[in-house]
Amino acid sequence: MRQRQFALVVLTTVSLFILSGNGRTQVNQPKTVLTNCNVIDCTGAKLMKDMTVVIVGNTIAEIKKGRYKGPANEKNVTIIDLENGYVLPGLWNMHTHLSALLPDPNNIQVNESVTSAAIRAGLNAMDGLRHGFTALRSVGERDYLDVAWRDAFDQGFFMGPRIFASGESVSPTAGHRGDIEHGADGVAEIRKAVRTRIQKGVDLIKIMSVEMLQDELEAAIETAHSLGRHVTSHTREPDIYRAVQAGVDCIEHGYGLTDKTIKLMAEKGTFYDPTIICNLSEEYIQERENRLKKMGYAEDKEISYYRTLINYADERSPEHALHQRQALKKAVDAGVKVVLGSDSMPIGEIGILEMEQFVLSGVSEMQTLIAATRNCADLLGVLDKLGTVEEGKLADLLVVMDNPLENISNIRKVKMVFKDGVSVDLNHPRGTATFWDYYGATNLRKGYLGEAENAAGFRRGKAEPPN
Ligand SMILES: [Zn+2]
Repeated sequence: MRQRQFALVVLTTVSLFILSGNGRTQVNQPKTVLTNCNVIDCTGAKLMKDMTVVIVGNTIAEIKKGRYKGPANEKNVTIIDLENGYVLPGLWNMHTHLSALLPDPNNIQVNESVTSAAIRAGLNAMDGLRHGFTALRSVGERDYLDVAWRDAFDQGFFMGPRIFASGESVSPTAGHRGDIEHGADGVAEIRKAVRTRIQKGVDLIKIMSVEMLQDELEAAIETAHSLGRHVTSHTREPDIYRAVQAGVDCIEHGYGLTDKTIKLMAEKGTFYDPTIICNLSEEYIQERENRLKKMGYAEDKEISYYRTLINYADERSPEHALHQRQALKKAVDAGVKVVLGSDSMPIGEIGILEMEQFVLSGVSEMQTLIAATRNCADLLGVLDKLGTVEEGKLADLLVVMDNPLENISNIRKVKMVFKDGVSVDLNHPRGTATFWDYYGATNLRKGYLGEAENAAGFRRGKAEPPN
């Protein structure tokens, strides 16, 4: 009886697969042609001019020189003249905390429900996609919100970026993030913490290695690796050297990174996520803002105000900022695989600022673009599918109007974004709050639309209760 039931289930599954799976999609795959464009494929190759990129279904089917010449009366094809625009791989932001606000000037996070945080997290991710971030890595998130949004986007409930999720960081009691309810202490608890996260569906493990004893550090790495997950650590010297030696796959922040550790990272192939945006002195913040002002990117007063406020919340001494800037440049020059991560939110605007800070730190525009694309897919083990513009890869693409190799801020001139071969609607939906409206809200209950209701004299509830 049990066997027969099993056979029936298998049969049904196979039939559904044939009906709705490969069979159907192969016949009717939509074809999108991007022509009259330039390609920066981020493999390390030079800019390719006057190109055509053909997307079939969700895949980059063909990249060729010259304008598109399809067969006469070709059906089921959308041809887009990109007017000399630039096609790149979609961007990645590798250090995100979807629901976090740093700082939180309006105390939004105080006593915030999981549900409210979940909504903010999703809005942040979807806003990031409209800026060209087609993928992101979450490195510390409450209540597995990152796992839930990953699945919601993967299942097509909403259009959002691909998420590689860590859940909450693994930290010893009294370590960084010591406010989390349950620190993990000793080898057994560390192993349990890692395995629990994997059971909940995470893609990677984020640890706070500074406060871990050697056996705890090794246990975290061994357990995660045994289950096929990479380990990334929030750390500072002298712990960075120890963590790299022990075998972590990526270093977050890397405060005080030394030449000796850079050498070891290059030898061992350890990735580096410098989050340079949260290692700025006042001078560097001003330098950046002045640069943006000259280019006309300071006209939105709300964005300029809040992005500066966010950077000042993480303001560092001039000595520290200079050290981190130099360490980033040295790491790139030494051949360390560097990735791009913003730490502060939102994913979009602060992610773009991180790219601009790379260039201000002396990293070339090409190396910056590779750090924001190819290297990220490499760290996550999906370089065969994503991270560059190459035939056979998934069509996660960013199209910008001007050349980001000439000025990295041209990455702000988004023309189109493709996620899995589908063109993303770049318009912020009318009548909905932006991330910044939400950020500036002094009272979430009233919020953005709530204030409009008040202004219109709209009142909720019945009349005042009788005295
Ligand atoms: Zn962080």
